[in-house]
Amino acid sequence: MQDRYDVIVIGGGLAGMTAANHLARNGCSVLLAEQHSQLGGLAAFFQRKSHVLDVALHGFPAGMKKSFRKYWGKEFADRIEQVQSIRFDNPQFQLSTVFDKPDFQKILQEKFSIEQETVNNFFNALAGMNYYEDRKENVRQLFERFFPGREDVWRLLMEPITYANGSTLDEPAVSYGIVFSNFMNKGVFTFRGGTECLIQMMEESLRSSGVDVEKNALAEKITIENGRTAGAVINGREIAADMVLSNGNLLRTARDLVGLEHFDPAFSQGIKELRMSNSSAQVYIGIKPGEKLDYIGDLLFSSTHPVFDADAITAKEVSSRTYSVYYPSMRPGTDQYTVVASMNARYEDWAGLDRKTYRRHKRQLIEDTLDAFEKYVPNIRKICDYTEAATPWTFKRYTLHENGASFGTKFEGLDYSAGLPKQINGLYHAGSVGIIMSGWLGAVNYGVIVANEMLKNKQ
Ligand SMILES: Cc1cc2nc3c(=O)[nH]c(=O)nc-3n(C[C@H](O)[C@H](O)[C@H](O)COP(=O)(O)OP(=O)(O)OC[C@H]3O[C@@H](n4cnc5c(N)ncnc54)[C@H](O)[C@@H]3O)c2cc1C
Repeated sequence: MQDRYDVIVIGGGLAGMTAANHLARNGCSVLLAEQHSQLGGLAAFFQRKSHVLDVALHGFPAGMKKSFRKYWGKEFADRIEQVQSIRFDNPQFQLSTVFDKPDFQKILQEKFSIEQETVNNFFNALAGMNYYEDRKENVRQLFERFFPGREDVWRLLMEPITYANGSTLDEPAVSYGIVFSNFMNKGVFTFRGGTECLIQMMEESLRSSGVDVEKNALAEKITIENGRTAGAVINGREIAADMVLSNGNLLRTARDLVGLEHFDPAFSQGIKELRMSNSSAQVYIGIKPGEKLDYIGDLLFSSTHPVFDADAITAKEVSSRTYSVYYPSMRPGTDQYTVVASMNARYEDWAGLDRKTYRRHKRQLIEDTLDAFEKYVPNIRKICDYTEAATPWTFKRYTLHENGASFGTKFEGLDYSAGLPKQINGLYHAGSVGIIMSGWLGAVNYGVIVANEMLKNKQ
């Protein structure tokens, strides 16, 4: 690390890395300080035995192709491929879809007997939503308006979005509408080569753009002098910078890195009241080399709960899981099959456990998941040679998110994230806030939006 930079970016998640790259390519000297030994943040992977396990590569919208091409390069965009089959299996319906607009419209009409006009009106209403104007209606009211009493339709429309970002029926309809329309546009996509390939490509690109990339570099403080940022303390060392962008959790940035005393009272009160999104639990399953999985779909939303219920989805007594199944085509040249079961989870359900109980509950999570997955792959226990689980504690430990939040803050966080530079000159945040600015696409786009704002304000 040098003693001074134009910009310090704290955190090497997708938003932090994209912002750092964009700033460096536009002439700034940039330090990217990541506390973990690996870049990526929640876009994480790990290797055990012969398996590479993806944590957050389950699917993203088509818009990612454009964002990657524009802000990272063609070689990134060229690796984006459409996921072929997304399955739903629950007590209300079983179906398989490519998750694009024509297919969804057809399913709503043919399988759920919704009038074509209603379907068109619903999609048009979503397409016409404006984040800055339409914040009054919530998702429940939106569904009541178009599909009154049709809880099966609500489930089809809502369950994947709840899995994807933890949102509930009480969220503003506009946040739902934007995310749903993004996905609905052209289907769900993935990155060929897996997360490890993406992160390696990003790290190489960052270095060739001139970014100083420092891993195992914990930012302990953002230094404020005379009402503006003066740099940051990283691993005990003061580094000067005109501007600091934090990609860390918004609450922890304002409260722990900056200090709430630096904000005006109303702003700091709002920060204190920010609601975090839920956290996650996952079970990772590696299939023995030489064994195979028949094709059962790429993403499988499986639930035994009678109806859609956002509370039940986060409950510790798991009734709903999303299985991501990775076939060798994901990592050409290998014969790797892995399965990742994802559950939305609550931090408080795991936080108070002593070490022994925690381990026991983790083991139980794995066993219950294997039991549930036997419905789709009856010999799963015989053909797997590796299982592991992650809990809200795991997410907190590796990313420092408050309460292990998987998608940052609820929607009100966006105003506070965007409001930081108006409070303190030179202080910025980019990372999971609201529903729109989280997920791979949201994080990448938010990184660019904030980096452009910083370039405008560069002294
Ligand atoms: C289980 C799970 C599954 C998901 N699946 C998908 C999916 O399929 N599709 C999708 O689009 N999205 C998915 N997501 C969400 C997506 O991964 C995240 O929204 C996105 O990666 C967040 O990026 P980010 O830049 O906001 O920050 P993060 O990934 O949260 O990164 C923040 C970084 O800041 C670092 N940091 C924090 N504090 C400090 C500090 N003081 N000093 C230095 N470094 C610090 C952290 O270590 C971390 O690397 C999933 C998330 C989870 C948890």
